[in-house]
Amino acid sequence: VSEIFSTMDYGPAPESAAEALAWLVDGGDRFGHFIGGGFTAPGDGFESRNPATGEVLATLSQASTEDVDAAVAAARKAQGKWARLSSHERAKYLYALARLIQKHARLFAVLETLDNGKPIRESRDIDIPLVHRHFYYHAGLAQLMETELPGHEPLGVCGQIIPWNFPLLMLAWKVAPALAAGNTVVLKPAEYTSLTALLFADICREAGLPKGVVNIVTGDGAVGEMIVNHPGIDKIAFTGSTEVGRKIREATAGSGKALTLELGGKSPYIVFEDSDIDSAVEGLVDAIWFNQGQVCCAGSRLLVQEGIAERFYDKLRARMDGLRLGDPLDKCIDVGAVVDPVQLERITAMVAEAGPEGTVYHARCPLPDQGCFYPPTLITGLSPAARLMQEEIFGPVLVGCTFRTPDEAVQLANNTRYGLAASVWTENINLALDIAPKLVAGVVWINATNLFDAAAGFGGMRESGFGREGGWEGIHAYLKPARASKPLKPVLPEAKAEEPEI
Ligand code: NAD
Repeated sequence: VSEIFSTMDYGPAPESAAEALAWLVDGGDRFGHFIGGGFTAPGDGFESRNPATGEVLATLSQASTEDVDAAVAAARKAQGKWARLSSHERAKYLYALARLIQKHARLFAVLETLDNGKPIRESRDIDIPLVHRHFYYHAGLAQLMETELPGHEPLGVCGQIIPWNFPLLMLAWKVAPALAAGNTVVLKPAEYTSLTALLFADICREAGLPKGVVNIVTGDGAVGEMIVNHPGIDKIAFTGSTEVGRKIREATAGSGKALTLELGGKSPYIVFEDSDIDSAVEGLVDAIWFNQGQVCCAGSRLLVQEGIAERFYDKLRARMDGLRLGDPLDKCIDVGAVVDPVQLERITAMVAEAGPEGTVYHARCPLPDQGCFYPPTLITGLSPAARLMQEEIFGPVLVGCTFRTPDEAVQLANNTRYGLAASVWTENINLALDIAPKLVAGVVWINATNLFDAAAGFGGMRESGFGREGGWEGIHAYLKPARASKPLKPVLPEAKAEEPEI
């Protein structure tokens, strides 16, 4: 690995990969699973690659049934003791995790960018800060639990399965509330992006987290299935595609396992003709080209009011041409690499479906000659029922159409099987406040997009899933009403004392 990186050209001002590299080399470039507080010996596995270059970063192990059994057993063994700690004690560990992530923020950011392909500016300024804030927030919630949530107890052992688009942030959304509430976890990162989860395992050791409270097993969907079907697991928390979410719902039906699902989206981005157009264009760049559009709540469906449509599209295309695409470690880059060649192929095939009906505009920005890069793309002219208007593309591809009236905007916005997020742009607050509650979406941003806060519950409606992550709602998803310590005896009303005579 060191040789590969010493010969790589990261352009004029790249972030140094040296520290992340050294960490990988320390791990022998091969990783086992993190079970019961230590790493297992690396087993048969698969390669994790840098999508910007195709280089192999490390070899990871594909968990076997025995590995998953061992992880669940370790979590089960640790759970009672972890739950019996006072919530203040648990908070201390969460604070320690938050502080250590903050301390190693640069290492986490570079490793995330190498593994996922997202621009370093995003992993450094958005992903990792949101991660430690999530741990700090849940440390605070843990402290409040005894007084604010008496009469609740943890669910037990939680199986957590996460996607590749925000690898460490999705881990934080799962692990922090589970631990705060007294659960232990078996987590499976996505097969393309497991490295920051393994670094997090190292951080758990450094924080002195009791063995078995966090267990991490690596592998593909088959390992996810093993977790979902494991009888020793009390709750499944899943973030990923609607298709897999549906399978998990079927598999857990009737099993008694608690379940939360955070799934896909095709979120509308509605621009009214009285909006500040330059801000709306800038917001749209963030809505759809942040993380190469691989964002569950990406504003991937533009609805623009007819009167300004032409002017808006002109400004948008000019802005697209100015986006800088390339080496994700370069601090000046706006758009990085798509996570894997499989995803690149998927995006390419979907855009090809635009057919003669659709007008496809690819940004005229230079593309690197190697790596998984796809240009920012705008597709117009499709009918609202077209597959590309309805299906999540999960790449840097925006579809756009026009509307005439606010009612039509609402009708088009809700014409989807999803319901994760929506963005409304107007200078008229009355219009915004009229439209927002009519939109079927877990969150509606007004003159903004992609705002996340650990204190605000995030989640979807319809086929975007159910359950919330973050805030009080999120912690409730990891708790159940406490069982009484002694069986309750029926309390008979006492014989009524005779009315005193006056
Ligand atoms: P995916 O569903 O293919 O995979 C997600 C995870 O599930 C991976 O770890 C994968 O290995 C595992 N998995 C695959 N098949 C499985 C099975 N049969 N049983 C159990 N686990 C299985 O999704 P992806 O391509 O990694 O992620 C992209 C999707 O995630 C998009 O649809 C996106 O919208 C969604 N997402 C949603 C949110 C949200 O909060 N709603 C956040 C991020 C991503």
